[in-house]
Amino acid sequence: MIPLVDLVAQYHSIKNEIDAAVNATLESGHFILGPAVTRFEESIASYLGVDHAIGLASGTDALVLALRALNIGAGDEVIIPAYTFFATAGTVMSVGATPVFVDVDPSTYEIDVAEIETRITPGTKAIIPVHLYGHPADMDPVMELARAHGLKVIEDNAQGFGAEYKGRKTGSIGDIGCLSFFPTKNLGAFGDGGMVVTNDSALAERMRMLRTHGWKKKYYSEEVGYNSRLDALQAAILQAKFPHVDAWNEKRREIAERYSEQLASLRVTVPMECEWGRHVYHLYVIRSDRRDELQAFLKQKGIASEVYYPLPPHLSVPCRKFGYKEGQFPFAEQASRETLALPLYPELSGTQQDEVVNAIRDFLS
Ligand SMILES: *Cc1c(COP(=O)(O)O)cnc(C)c1O
Repeated sequence: MIPLVDLVAQYHSIKNEIDAAVNATLESGHFILGPAVTRFEESIASYLGVDHAIGLASGTDALVLALRALNIGAGDEVIIPAYTFFATAGTVMSVGATPVFVDVDPSTYEIDVAEIETRITPGTKAIIPVHLYGHPADMDPVMELARAHGLKVIEDNAQGFGAEYKGRKTGSIGDIGCLSFFPTKNLGAFGDGGMVVTNDSALAERMRMLRTHGWKKKYYSEEVGYNSRLDALQAAILQAKFPHVDAWNEKRREIAERYSEQLASLRVTVPMECEWGRHVYHLYVIRSDRRDELQAFLKQKGIASEVYYPLPPHLSVPCRKFGYKEGQFPFAEQASRETLALPLYPELSGTQQDEVVNAIRDFLS
């Protein structure tokens, strides 16, 4: 059986470091925020090259707090890609704003920048590019457009930890970057966790207030906020994993390159990396017009694979009220029918990888 990801293998590879971090936290008596969280926030801020990092309960909350800090709410429109995890759309709706979808580039799955401009209206407040699968979105033209139209940019960097755009870390380019430490993400906790990062002190202060009931001073709420804090235990675990993340991402890139070489001659489309970016392969996603059959075949051979995502958000139940029709975002819809993520994690062995490639070759021949 070859799993899609193997979180236990990663734990075993640095068990001593993780166990020590967990034990130290248990002995510290400090479980919510506190020194472990502050230290981890500082590590991430310095890694990404930003001034402020604020640890939160999840990546979903990171998007919500970013939108709230930018005063986005009822009557506002936010432009997002039509192919992404539902949270990108759901968080926009949860603050009362309207997601406005834009199709994706069929070769990178990133937001189609040329189409963004056609969707800007007087109600548009922000753009949320998503660094989907760990490949950076084309940020320069997004930032240019945003500046020209007075819009804010929130990067959904949940899948792109460590990725680079023209030498800059993704998440550090827009007004606010959102990170997720969901266990399977490139830097994953042993539970939920998230973070917002920014160079803007006023936004940072606002998001710090929002994560704890709108408090500037304890118990004195200045606005309605949330309980969305990173646990000390998760921060300690993340801090222990953090020094390894570059090596893990490098390993992901090697495995991806090997997949792409071996699959190149077969009738599947392999992922690409734009010359301006460094892909960190949160997911290694191929495309096949016989996707469902291929997935069933792999399953029979004991090989896990997954579809990210079978339903583009504009066709989801909560978005029905916006009246989007099938066919409106053809590349997003095609991706939802044809994409398949193959097993990829830093500990995947060469033998396991050969097994996956051989199974795909068997299926296609
Ligand atoms: C994982 C993910 C999120 C949400 O993060 P959680 O920590 O699971 O709440 C948001 N956007 C994208 C693109 C994601 O992949």
